[in-house]
Amino acid sequence: MIKIKRKNTDKARQAVVDLEKAKQSGSTYNTENVNQALREIFHRKCYICEYKQATSYQIEHLIPHRENTDLKYDWNNLFLVCAHCNNIKLAKYDPILDCTKEPVEKLIAFRKKGYFGFKEELEFTPVGIENETVKNTVALLKDAYYGTTDQKKFEARIIRKALRKDIAQFKEYVREYQEAEDEEEREEMVYLLKKELQDSSEFVAFKRWLIWDNKMYSELEKYIPQN
Ligand SMILES: [Zn+2]
Repeated sequence: MIKIKRKNTDKARQAVVDLEKAKQSGSTYNTENVNQALREIFHRKCYICEYKQATSYQIEHLIPHRENTDLKYDWNNLFLVCAHCNNIKLAKYDPILDCTKEPVEKLIAFRKKGYFGFKEELEFTPVGIENETVKNTVALLKDAYYGTTDQKKFEARIIRKALRKDIAQFKEYVREYQEAEDEEEREEMVYLLKKELQDSSEFVAFKRWLIWDNKMYSELEKYIPQN
């Protein structure tokens, strides 16, 4: 989970119009414009687990609406989530950090410790203030990446497998950057690393913390966008 800018795009404006109409008529908030706008803003990834290859994405209410129409049709309360995370969150873990307003990756450290088959563990550590909202977010993240029921544990393993592969690739880019023989080679790696550290990159919270945690990588910090 990282901070995502809720940009005021053309699609977003159309979504807001749709939601106002739907609120008046009592019809669904799940319109094409709303879906398209959310996919654009959330970079086609789940805001909770940052997985981009799920087969099912849904619209989630950050604050459970419980048939409160103001919350139900509020554009700022709608988030793009994968079905796995949506099923885990339901109305539990309330409140959690609003990733469109809070710098989540500055409030929680995202770390992958160990290696596959050897003490591998995803860690979510509050940095600084540890209030109820941060605690709930950490609990939700743990459950999203590890699952709660047998079926969800199976789904979580698929997400962790993708994460492991993605982080390994990222580390490989960092290594190639450090070992670059000439300026041209280095520039090529800078291009790839910049892309990997953008908001749109999968599991980017973990990638940014890999850089922040390692003094050897400090010169790469400038490639992390300032939110
Ligand atoms: Zn998810």
